[in-house]
Amino acid sequence: MKIIFDERQLKHDPELYFRRGAFIPHPEQPQRAILLRDALLAAGHTRQMPADHGLDPIKAVHDPAYVDFLMSAWPAWVEATGTTVPAVPNYHTDRRNFRVPTGVIGRLGYYSTDTSCPIVEGTAEAIYWSAQTAIDAAERVRSGAEGHIYALCRPPGHHAVLDASWGFCFFNNAAVAAQHLRGRFGKVAVLDVDTHAGNGTQDIFHARGDVLYVSIHTDPSDYTPFFIGYADETGIGAGEGATRNLVLPVGAGAEEILARYDEALEVIRAFGAEALVVSLGLDMSQDDPLSLVGMTRAGFESGAAKIAGLGLPTVLVQEGGYLGPSLSDNAVAFLGAFDAARRA
Ligand SMILES: [Zn+2]
Repeated sequence: MKIIFDERQLKHDPELYFRRGAFIPHPEQPQRAILLRDALLAAGHTRQMPADHGLDPIKAVHDPAYVDFLMSAWPAWVEATGTTVPAVPNYHTDRRNFRVPTGVIGRLGYYSTDTSCPIVEGTAEAIYWSAQTAIDAAERVRSGAEGHIYALCRPPGHHAVLDASWGFCFFNNAAVAAQHLRGRFGKVAVLDVDTHAGNGTQDIFHARGDVLYVSIHTDPSDYTPFFIGYADETGIGAGEGATRNLVLPVGAGAEEILARYDEALEVIRAFGAEALVVSLGLDMSQDDPLSLVGMTRAGFESGAAKIAGLGLPTVLVQEGGYLGPSLSDNAVAFLGAFDAARRA
């Protein structure tokens, strides 16, 4: 299938991640995208660069002030601090009732939820092109040029909420893609198979009935994102019933995970989705360094075939999946099985 990818996404290069009281090498490395790109091209998929669709499609799902902050934070940080060390917030708000300050250090805290999203010199360019990659893929499906396509987005997006970064994510690429598809399709579903709950996508769409959010993920009660992603969260207002969290226990194997795929696909069919965005995390893999469940290569193939069987116009958006031994193999397996199922 066609792969959309832009090397400018590699410019976000975070060094350290503060985890359990200590700094460790940041798991969300540019090398992830390089491995995925090279393995998928070697497997015969064809790559294209995204066109520039501008900031408006991003601002269609994020607070415009948040988007503008991210695009301009680095030079403001350098000027305010006199350093070029990564911009990491050390003040946080309890959010909604607080003011947005004018200074960059306060705004950095306002527009972040944690310390996992350091802003470095290349961050703005990388997250911009990560989002453009998703938009361009969605545009090709929206126009009918492609029936399914893969957006190799990096940094990932599904933890980014309306107005804050969270869990390695800045712009919510899958939400941006889903919103873009809404320009043609009346009902769009987002299926999130990353091992972490996609709290950001849920946050963005939880009051909307036109975008279904279905997520299969590891129980968040002792696992990031901790505060959201539970089975009893089903949406609010017009979005009541359009959020579905299918929670896996720690230690779940491929068979149990694929049973949740079947449940998710039933929900998507019942909703009457006309197009689909898949938040394709590969971090359920049994050898992913962040995984607490045990997805296999054969499981990824089976899951991909099930999703392809919906027969919907589909944008596959890369989310998590870290530097374990089978990261790129699993991507090749998933995309290959998806393609094969569509040809069958
Ligand atoms: Zn993840």
